[in-house]
Amino acid sequence: MEKTPLSLRTHISIFGNTNAGKSSLFNALLGQPLAIVSDKKGTTADPVTKALELIPYGPAALTDTAGLGDDSPLGEKRMEKTEQILNKTDFAIYAAAADDFDIKAYEEMKLRFEEKKIPHILVFTKSDIARKEYPDGIAVSVNDSQSVEHLRSVLIKRLSEIKGGEQSMLGSLLSKGSTVALVVPIDSEAPKGRLIMPQVQLIRDCLDNGMCAVVTRETELEKTLAEQKKIDLVVTDSQVFKTVSELVPDDILLTSFSMLTANMKCDMTGLIEGAKAIDSLCDGSRILMAESCTHNTSHEDIGRVKIPRMLSKYTGRKLEFDFKAGCDFSGDFSGYDLVIHCGGCMLNSKAMRNRQLLCAEKGVPMTNYGVAIAFVNGILDRCTKIFGL
Ligand code: SF4
Repeated sequence: MEKTPLSLRTHISIFGNTNAGKSSLFNALLGQPLAIVSDKKGTTADPVTKALELIPYGPAALTDTAGLGDDSPLGEKRMEKTEQILNKTDFAIYAAAADDFDIKAYEEMKLRFEEKKIPHILVFTKSDIARKEYPDGIAVSVNDSQSVEHLRSVLIKRLSEIKGGEQSMLGSLLSKGSTVALVVPIDSEAPKGRLIMPQVQLIRDCLDNGMCAVVTRETELEKTLAEQKKIDLVVTDSQVFKTVSELVPDDILLTSFSMLTANMKCDMTGLIEGAKAIDSLCDGSRILMAESCTHNTSHEDIGRVKIPRMLSKYTGRKLEFDFKAGCDFSGDFSGYDLVIHCGGCMLNSKAMRNRQLLCAEKGVPMTNYGVAIAFVNGILDRCTKIFGL
């Protein structure tokens, strides 16, 4: 990983009516012409996201969205994508053309920001004169580098005010000097020649927090435990939870990669409560297996094969499984008895929490892969001890 992954960046998104100058603003903030700029309405069809370093704030991701009020035939589809972006936005910029300010559209969007608890700033483009009614609005002319710099400094200031500290998987859970053993199975599911993102992230997290990381397969875990003087925590791939829990002595903390990721990005208590719904499943219960990326699947895929098989065996019931993959998490989930989500390593915290909220609003319990596997193996209490739960 050469750069901070998008899932760990603060997501800033630009919203506004078509032709409000969003793409020009996007390019100006990035300092390069990445989005197509045109006077023609609706030029931005799909959201465009780019990594952005806001020094001294830190890594961010900037997204240019399709314009609101798009009455073209594709308008509705574009609005669905804009809604998906809203669900992962940490901070919003509302762009409005100062000489054509659609106050009603702004007030409507302001309500949406408030509903989603997204702080925002109003930026007037295409003119140096902001509307008198909105003195807090920031006037930006993309041809005036000073006004773009001013916007950048306002963004950094506002983001620093809302930032809840750097996201760390282990920083608040273990002390400096701790030793962590990472258990990484090298089976047919493991990508050739590399580790997957949560594994790489955890190694980096150990280094950032002055901890020692030891990486082993489950087949060498016993030997590793015997050779190491002190192991404070074992973090395993959920797929080998049962084997690993039998090998790790009770006085060593144990959890999984997906539980550590979930603890950083989600409401962990909610995921644990969600797992308890497994005991209420009956014949015909409907379960949605949700993944936030569309990776290749295989005959031993954890979400499509292993967990469904594990749940059917544990409950002894005829369960019905549906599968959903990708960044679109819209739809009516009210017909489901349980949603089991992947670790969500490709999503930021805002998006994961919004997925939990959406399920809660529909009254559908939601848990994740690691928590569900720990639950059916009877080791959930042990694996959540590290989180003080
Ligand atoms: S399925 Fe989920 S946890 Fe697995 S790689 Fe994709 S986003 Fe990450």
